[in-house]
Amino acid sequence: MPKRKTENKRLDRSQKKPEKLIDKNDVRIDGRKLDELRPVKIEVGVLGNADGSAYIEQGKNKILAAIYGPKEVHPRHLALPDRSLLRCRYHMAPFSVEERKSPAPSRREVELSKVIREALEPSVFVEYYPRTSVDIFIEVLQADGGTRCAGLTAASLALADAGIPMRDLVVACAAGKVEGRLVLDLTDVEDKGGEVDLPLALMPNLNGITLLQMDGDLTVDEFEKVVNLALDGCRRLYALQKETLKSKYVVKEAVEE
Ligand code: UDP
Repeated sequence: MPKRKTENKRLDRSQKKPEKLIDKNDVRIDGRKLDELRPVKIEVGVLGNADGSAYIEQGKNKILAAIYGPKEVHPRHLALPDRSLLRCRYHMAPFSVEERKSPAPSRREVELSKVIREALEPSVFVEYYPRTSVDIFIEVLQADGGTRCAGLTAASLALADAGIPMRDLVVACAAGKVEGRLVLDLTDVEDKGGEVDLPLALMPNLNGITLLQMDGDLTVDEFEKVVNLALDGCRRLYALQKETLKSKYVVKEAVEE
């Protein structure tokens, strides 16, 4: 009897890490070159009820970002007299990963919410809206490594979509080291089987890094190379971010009958 699809899926999930993540010709397990990004698709204004929103697919990652605000702060005692209060919630749906994730916020999600907020805050003119709050929601629908970066890229676009005045966009990308090779935009299996993962967020016009984290060890020379690789990835993603924003405002000419 042929196996049902779900059974096959379960078999796939129990598969161990592949023996080699990069072959002798420097081709990665998903067919990418060492310095190649995963295919990326971004949309803005995808949610009708949020003030701003964006959706990103980066490889198998699927992430929604939504903005509410600037609006009155609740609870009110949190309001800041001189600026807007930026809040962020990064959340992974229970079905976003292979092993069901509890819907309750994990320590990891609390940390990611904090670092993402801190990475976005320098780009926002928070002083324009005292006593208000701007809430950023990042919902990971499907995860495959690099979700903090893809979530950040989408959240910055969602802020712009909400019409919030900003100094620059923020764009993020990870690079790292896998089986001794320096690689861009690691997938989950590369992250877990590799030596180093270094997520980085950049304000491309101000040339400011707003997030830099690293798991693992690198030499100083390798560190420089990995940072430059991540910066290069950010600049490529930034071009896509700009294109996506512009496409929202293109006036489509009416086709005459
Ligand atoms: N992950 C998972 N279960 C979890 C948390 C993470 O399977 O509860 C996977 C998921 O694919 C995620 C990856 O581990 O993208 C890497 O997680 P990390 O903490 O490095 O953050 P990310 O690379 O997504 O920013």
